[in-house]
Formats: sequence, structure tokens, C-alpha cells
Amino acid sequence: MCATCGCGDARGTRIAAPHGTGAAPQDHSHSPAHAHGHAHPHPHADEQEPGATITLEQKVLAKNEILADRNRAWLAGQGITAVNMMSSPGAGKTTLLERTIRDFTGLRPVAVIEGDQETMLDADRIKRAGCAVVQVNTGAGCHLDAEMMRDALTTLSPASGSLILVENVGNLVCPALFDLGERSKVVIISVTEGTDKPLKYPYMFAAADLVLINKIDLLPHVDFDPVLCEKYARSVNPDLRVLTLSATTGEGLDDWYAWVAEQG
Ligand code: MG
Repeated sequence: MCATCGCGDARGTRIAAPHGTGAAPQDHSHSPAHAHGHAHPHPHADEQEPGATITLEQKVLAKNEILADRNRAWLAGQGITAVNMMSSPGAGKTTLLERTIRDFTGLRPVAVIEGDQETMLDADRIKRAGCAVVQVNTGAGCHLDAEMMRDALTTLSPASGSLILVENVGNLVCPALFDLGERSKVVIISVTEGTDKPLKYPYMFAAADLVLINKIDLLPHVDFDPVLCEKYARSVNPDLRVLTLSATTGEGLDDWYAWVAEQG
């Protein structure tokens, strides 16, 4: 976990439904646990003692695990399947979600939790696709955590049997460390990125259940080797499933939908 970029720091986190859904935003920016000068899990740099950073990171992650387990138990009790979607910015997460929501219409209730540092832009796109959605703005934070997931679920109040698609903050580092209580983790990589991403960000690929190689309609125009990328991904996680698709053309989406169905 990074100690310098605001990881684990919930100050500034805002959870809101897009205009017109009627759900009240929750402002965590003045939570007593995070008031300046009080005990919180992210000491200022000049307060840290040798070894203190690791100890505090372990405490943050241990607290997150407890909350994630509660989320997991609640989701299981409701018969809700949650899938955590992670990628670099621009890999096509939101476009894939829009397409998936439209193709699931009438088949299964779908709801989305949108994570971004700022703006309601993606939540507004998802709402236009016809889906219940809450936006979590993490401010300086670079990932969603189990507490944000719990609060988003409270705001969303999804129907029993729903599929919850979580679009995590665009980042291949920190989201890998924070269990949300989800059923499965998906990493999306697009062919406009480097073939060697799995080697550069092994923790993300090690944590994932599925890799989606997106934008394959652009393969003739870019220097990307999907076979080699899959080989790299399996070198850090031999159990990974790897699928190729284009959220724009629809190629490969049936395999993605079949995988979603396998998750319950
Ligand atoms: Mg997005």
C-alpha cells in the first residue's frame, strides 16, 4: 500500500447517486475518525517512526478484511453477486459496463458502483444505460475499500439476486490490495497498453480471477501481442482465465457473459 498518495485515507470520500435517484449523498469528509489531530491510519510523514508505516498499513488492511467479510456475508445472504472491475484509466471499463447493462436488460437486475477520484461523469453514463448506480468519489484516494463498498451498497439498496458490477478507480496498484467482499476480481487491459503490463503490475494480476483483453478491434493498428500478454499474465497467476473482446464491436462478449453467469 502506498503511504504517500492518500491510500487508506477516507477524507474527502463522497458517495452519491446521480441526479434524480433520490438517494442522499453521504459526506465522510468530517468523520470524527478522520478529524485532523485525531488517531487515524495515515500518519503525517514527520510523525512516522521506523516500522510504523508497515504496522499501520497492516492495521488498515486488517480492518478492511473485517469489513470485506461482512460485505461478503451480506451479499451472500441477499443472493447478490458482486464483481470488482479494475484497470488502468482508459482501458474501457465504463464502455464495457454500458454494453453489459444493455445486454442484461430483462435477464437479471444489474446495479453499478462507480469509483473515481472526482466527477459524476461515469455514473451519469451508467444511468443513461438504464441501470441503478452510485458514484463513489475517493478524492485523493486511489482505490475503493470495503467501507466505501458497504456505504455504497447501503445507498444502492440492490434487489435480491442482483449482479453488482463495481468499477474501481483506474489504477493497477492499490485496488489489488483492498478486498471489497466481492465474489470475483476482473482486470481489464486494452490493446492500446503495453503487452508487458502483467509483468509490471504482478500483484494486480496475481489477485485477479479473470483478465479481459479489450479493444481487440484495434489490434491491426497497434503493437500488442495478446498471446504473449496472456503468457505473462499466467506467469504470475497460473489459474487466471483470460478472454479477449471488444466492448465496441461486441466480439467476444458472449464468453464474458458466460463467465459472469458462472459467478452465480
Ligand atoms: Mg470509467
